[in-house]
Amino acid sequence: MARYTGPVCRLCRREGMKLFLKGQRCYTDKCAIEKRNFVPGEHGRNLRSKTIGYGLQLREKQKVKRIYGILEDQFHRYFERAARMKGITGELLLQFLERRLDNTVYRLGFASSRKQARQLVCHGHLLVNGQKVDIPSYLLKKGDEISIRPKSQKNAFILASLEEVTGRGVPAWLSLDRDNFKGTFLEIPRRDEIQLPIEESLIVELYSK
Ligand code: SF4
Repeated sequence: MARYTGPVCRLCRREGMKLFLKGQRCYTDKCAIEKRNFVPGEHGRNLRSKTIGYGLQLREKQKVKRIYGILEDQFHRYFERAARMKGITGELLLQFLERRLDNTVYRLGFASSRKQARQLVCHGHLLVNGQKVDIPSYLLKKGDEISIRPKSQKNAFILASLEEVTGRGVPAWLSLDRDNFKGTFLEIPRRDEIQLPIEESLIVELYSK
């Protein structure tokens, strides 16, 4: 599947905020947002202040897709599923994104970014309830146990990421048993628990046109 392979810091600069796409570097003063927080390109310094209406809705959608590393078709499918369900569409959309296996692997600290988490899943390092799952978009449900397969527990990337998560913290809807390389998806997060600066209502407005 086609994926964006250009410089990821440009994506943060385009959205005007840290999207945390580069692991530990995002927490250091090497972060591009710390040095050049304006839109890339010749006229970038003037662009952001002019964004209103449709442009604002579009930027919000792009921002969320970039945070979670999702392409348009799949993102739209999540929206359509959320729109068919009872409840608040924007919240349901974010819950789908949070339930993805790659996102949960990142949130638990087994990977330093969602991109690295996707690679770990694709390469077969992860088990869900004891069974190998190599599909990054696999949706977790309440009570699912996510673990690193025994052969991968010495993987240098995983060990380094687990060190980093001490500073980042694990969200309330997950529990991490670091010594045994496993975590539990305790429950589907409420909107107020997903602490990302996202205005999902703008995305709902965009897709509802
Ligand atoms: Fe974004 Fe991280 Fe690059 Fe900073 S270092 S601009 S947060 S990807």
